[in-house]
Amino acid sequence: MIRENVDLQALNTFGLKALARYFCRVDSEARLSQALDFAREHKLPLLLMGGGSNLLLRENFPGLVMQVALRGITHTLQDERSVRVHAASGENWHDFVQHCLSQGWYGLENLALIPGSVGAAPIQNIGAYGVEAGDLIECVDVVDIRTGERQTLNHEQCAFGYRDSVFKHSLRGRKLILGVTFRLWRTPQPNLRYAVLAQALSDKGAGPQEIFDAVCAIRRSKLPDPAVLGNAGSFFKNPVLSAEHYARLQQTNPDIPGFPSDAGGPVKVPAAWLIEKAGWKGRSHGGAAVYEKQALVLVNRDHASARDVVELAQQIMTSVQQQFGVALEPEVQWVPPFEPPFL
Ligand code: NAP
Repeated sequence: MIRENVDLQALNTFGLKALARYFCRVDSEARLSQALDFAREHKLPLLLMGGGSNLLLRENFPGLVMQVALRGITHTLQDERSVRVHAASGENWHDFVQHCLSQGWYGLENLALIPGSVGAAPIQNIGAYGVEAGDLIECVDVVDIRTGERQTLNHEQCAFGYRDSVFKHSLRGRKLILGVTFRLWRTPQPNLRYAVLAQALSDKGAGPQEIFDAVCAIRRSKLPDPAVLGNAGSFFKNPVLSAEHYARLQQTNPDIPGFPSDAGGPVKVPAAWLIEKAGWKGRSHGGAAVYEKQALVLVNRDHASARDVVELAQQIMTSVQQQFGVALEPEVQWVPPFEPPFL
């Protein structure tokens, strides 16, 4: 069950070459306990993988890589209006969204086509087009990596923020997510807050299926399919600037887009705009490149090495820092972890 020196290239959507010293696909709780025991016994560092869609593997991994493949979806009707749906962490996120829609369980439509697994959703609090997974998560089942003890964290304990949660902070590397419970709607609750979505739907009606289809169409029009062109989705987080910083940038860049949280408050700025304005859209470095249709995505254009991707990312960050005074942060998980030494 535990294999040695396993090639991870086909298991990360960037398609980067790296070997795992040990590798285990965990598709049952029994296997999970065995794998955790093995890691503890041999004092191995652990890398948890879901869909491998948010990873930048910079070198071979010296410990145990666990691919979490727990499956299963169950539900309980709560009342006329809502349903509780539990999904195991290894379920594919997009398939889960599609399944919910087919069952008449609404709320996740805006999150269609986000790559990765259900178990990754709470960590990043994935969000898109005005909806965040955390808004709909009731609780998360976890197991403690050190002790093997199980626990259920309620919504408050997950401390969801913008692409953020407790799993990125105090519980980082301490808990493995087994499953997620969502509270979804039994009647459609369309969310058309994002102009691009509302525009796409203006002549089609705005039921959940239409929203799902429109989100898929928007994403497909500007994001590369990892099966065709290796990538890990958005490579950088969208930065949040102080109102003063944003106002200064507006003086020299009147066309800079910005989304204030509230009047006079911090302003979210699309990282893609900054990267494109700094001249990086479509440029290459070694086998890595900035995707020509969406500058937030780095792609494996031609047998890229991890070094190509890292150097390209660093050049972009330096250039955006110099031009706009904005420190971009990677959204993708770097293994070993990202450190910002060079700015
Ligand atoms: P986009 O839609 O142009 O969004 C770029 C930035 O502008 C994001 O920070 C977005 O905020 C913000 N924004 C756009 N319209 C807004 C509005 N009406 N109100 C408030 N903020 C607004 O470009 P994109 O990069 O292609 O992203 C599309 C959607 O997918 C976004 O919602 C983005 O967050 C999401 N996405 C999520 C993940 C993830 O969860 N890991 C990865 C990639 C993209 P928000 O980020 O708050 O939406």
